[in-house]
Amino acid sequence: MAPLPKKKYPKARQGKRRSHLGVKVPALVNCPQCHNPKLPHHVCPTCGSYNGREVIEIAAPKKKPA
Ligand SMILES: [Zn+2]
Repeated sequence: MAPLPKKKYPKARQGKRRSHLGVKVPALVNCPQCHNPKLPHHVCPTCGSYNGREVIEIAAPKKKPA
């Protein structure tokens, strides 16, 4: 038989525990190369650049309409 809690866990304590479970909006910065939003400290998924140089090759680079 599985262990059972001796007392009812109040909804207030349950809510306090779950107060940290919310989905957070990811922090975004604009790429200095293509000015599209990207994750900080990550290679830009749009132009493939990091720290001022191209690190990965993007198959079809999306050009911003001028
Ligand atoms: Zn970029």
